Amino acid sequence: MINILMFGPPGSGKGTQSVTLAEKYNLLHLSTGDMLRAELAAGTPLGKKMEAIMAAGELVPDDVVIAMIAGKIDATTGKAGFIFDGFPRTVEQAEELQKMLEGRGMKIDLMLVLEVNDTELMDRMKKRALVSGRADDADENIINNRIAVYRAKTEPVIVFGRKAGVSRSVDGVGTIDDIFGRLCKEIETVI
Ligand code: ADP
Repeated sequence: MINILMFGPPGSGKGTQSVTLAEKYNLLHLSTGDMLRAELAAGTPLGKKMEAIMAAGELVPDDVVIAMIAGKIDATTGKAGFIFDGFPRTVEQAEELQKMLEGRGMKIDLMLVLEVNDTELMDRMKKRALVSGRADDADENIINNRIAVYRAKTEPVIVFGRKAGVSRSVDGVGTIDDIFGRLCKEIETVI
């Protein structure tokens, strides 16, 4: 089993690339953002509790996403591994994921870090706002807060990845196909 973390700021293209990478390498795509939005859409008690946090661009509590991920890992069969998108988003989540995988005879094999500058990120998210219908895409202040939360709480996970010797930086600016090619090249060094 191969476990890949797709990492980068909001708007860096993690979701777009994860979907096609998951298809190509027979991985299960696990997006905590998608899972949380599904809870919201279904109107579950958990979804209702998380709605305001997500709309403000803040992070939901670590234990919530950790439990979601553990449930999915244990329910999966027939896949060559997992691609984690939007998780881990804090050092604590990263440490828990590592424990979770080790307890199941696996490890984090690769962390792909998409590099995109802030002006380009803001541009992409404003465009996405026109089609995504996401409350957290619609307002410039909320987008700025998400980028600030990323820098403060999520970026330190890169240090975790470096220490583990698994992080690889990838230029996230260019055509979707070009970026896909760059990511595949990195993945093929570990499979
Ligand atoms: P993006 O990458 O565009 O910022 P996501 O779809 O990954 O968006 O996440 C949307 C929102 O869901 C986040 O702003 C946060 O509120 C919540 N969320 C998603 N994943 C996590 C996580 N691993 N830990 C905490 N909150 C999360």
